[in-house]
Amino acid sequence: MQEKSEVLSGFSCPKEQQNQRCTRLDALADEYDAVAQQHQTNLVALREAAQHTLDILDNLLDGVLTFSEHGQIESFNKAATHIFGYTAAEAIGHPANLLLSGDHAAQRDADLQHLETSDTPFVIGQSIETLGRRKDTSLFPISLSVSRVERAGEPIFVGVIRDITQQRNAKEEIQRLAFYDPLTHLPNRRLLQDRLEQALITSSRTAQHGALMFLDLDHFKHLNDTLGHDLGDELLKQVATRLKTCVREGDTVARLGGDEFVVLLEGLSPTSHESAAQAESVAAKVLGALGQGYQLRGHPFESTPSIGIVLFPGEDDNTEALLKKADIAMYQAKAAGRNTVRFFDLAMQAAVTAHAALERDMRRGLAHQEFMLLYQFQVNVQGAPIGAEAFLRWNHSSRGVVPPSQFIALAEETSVGHLLGQWVLETACAQLTVWADQASTAQWTLAINISPSQFEHANFVSQVANALRKAGAKPQQLRLELTERMLMNDTSETRTRMHAIKALGVGFSLDDFGTGYSSLVHLQRLPLDQLKIDQSFVQTLLTQPGDAAVARSVIALGHSLGLTVIAEGVETAEQRNLLASLGCDAFQGYYFGRPSPAADLEDIERIRPQPLSNKRN
Ligand code: C2E
Ligand code: MG
Ligand code: MG
Repeated sequence: MQEKSEVLSGFSCPKEQQNQRCTRLDALADEYDAVAQQHQTNLVALREAAQHTLDILDNLLDGVLTFSEHGQIESFNKAATHIFGYTAAEAIGHPANLLLSGDHAAQRDADLQHLETSDTPFVIGQSIETLGRRKDTSLFPISLSVSRVERAGEPIFVGVIRDITQQRNAKEEIQRLAFYDPLTHLPNRRLLQDRLEQALITSSRTAQHGALMFLDLDHFKHLNDTLGHDLGDELLKQVATRLKTCVREGDTVARLGGDEFVVLLEGLSPTSHESAAQAESVAAKVLGALGQGYQLRGHPFESTPSIGIVLFPGEDDNTEALLKKADIAMYQAKAAGRNTVRFFDLAMQAAVTAHAALERDMRRGLAHQEFMLLYQFQVNVQGAPIGAEAFLRWNHSSRGVVPPSQFIALAEETSVGHLLGQWVLETACAQLTVWADQASTAQWTLAINISPSQFEHANFVSQVANALRKAGAKPQQLRLELTERMLMNDTSETRTRMHAIKALGVGFSLDDFGTGYSSLVHLQRLPLDQLKIDQSFVQTLLTQPGDAAVARSVIALGHSLGLTVIAEGVETAEQRNLLASLGCDAFQGYYFGRPSPAADLEDIERIRPQPLSNKRN
């Protein structure tokens, strides 16, 4: 800016005039200076404000760009350069649709180029989600909003762009977690139910049948127990992949959890027998595909499925009922020897209904104290009672006394089994404390039968410990009878559990010995106390020469493992004598006494065995 002296130089006039003029000029010059000063200050302030705005724009996480009404980019902030990979210099002057995916670019192109003229430019004044295109041509999801502002009477457009890749991924992840199984990426139960509902609607409209297949891997638990969950998971993933190859595009393969899969077939024939044949052929394909050997991280592995099928539409179909029916059919396939297929039918339904009724009845029986334990002596070689085994009976209000063979297996399949097992355990422990108070019975051991599912239950060890504590019984006098079948799978879990129970002081007897396939090596590793020769050998001991040989070797085997050997089902003196001559340590059977109520046993005079030659019943 010019100084005042410069402005004044070059002026000449008479002194008076000059003085007046000078005063005016001085005033003018001062005014000028003040204005100039103000102007200068304003400019600095403006520049600062502009810089401030630019700083704000550059520090925004959102990309901000301005473009002309013809869609030409005029400014491009720092975030926009990060989002799109163009520098501001590269972007400015180019059409804004450079930044959008080719897909809808034509439409947007038109809109962006004729923002003023198009009636409802679809990006103005609203935020839309679309695909952006980076400099390297990769596409990514963005949210875009455009607003219109005026500059010197000209419209300019401000676009605000946000990269929503992360948001999208998070949304997709939530969607995936809600509807897909994380391990196999197959639809989960929820999505299956949705699809099944749709399939039911479609099939009733088109009159075409559909089929629901319930599929469970045979002995999967054993794989998990022996080779570990990682390999179990690997098998499930491979099964999922194979299953998908067996069905058509529109069919659904879902995983319900564990080793349970469901296949939903749609658009089958309108006639039932044809649709059944179609479903059966898919099931055969599945059996073939899943029955091929697997490589689980280098471990060769064999697996087969059991498959239950139900066709729809049928009677009173809803998703839950159909899943239940397919599940029932799958259990039938398991019962029929596994690796096979069963269709749901009404006879099955009847069996299931009876099953359910019995289960309800058992619950009622438990609540009404209809269950009881009978006790049978165990005697030593001198014929003196050393303990007893407890047998469960159901004193049914209308059916009379029901033996365990008629309800134990079913109870096992339901949660009643667990309750019954607990009741037996607690009742037996209470009985031990009663005996502890009487001199003649104080030293007796009491054996109880443990069912496989009871033994495998996660809380079993604490269940035993609690029952003993609650009754105040001596653990050393409680003996749990397990069967060979339960111990056949030599898993570390079984051993750990047995050792934990053994650590409480409780003993183990191996029931029904000789009917399973235990190996010596295997038995040696288990903390057993006693082998029990199965009654089937005892009963034919005198008639089938082979059986005496089996009994002899069982006794020798037991002794070599440091175990005592007891024979069950001893009915005659001859059987007892032969067994005693083979070295058997203890005996149990009708010869010494039938299973009876506890009070009958406590009468010690009544129970002392008669001379050995007399047969008792
Ligand atoms: P187990 O433990 O092998 O029991 C032997 C079965 O033979 C019992 O039948 C017993 O009453 C019967 N028995 C005893 N002495 C003789 C004899 O001299 N001759 C003959 N022929 N039989 C004899 P029960 O009471 O019907 O029990 C059958 C099976 O049911 C038992 O076989 C056991 O596996 C199971 N069981 C019994 N009570 C319970 C229980 O409380 N819980 C569980 N989980 N299972 C039980
Ligand atoms: Mg037993
Ligand atoms: Mg037995």
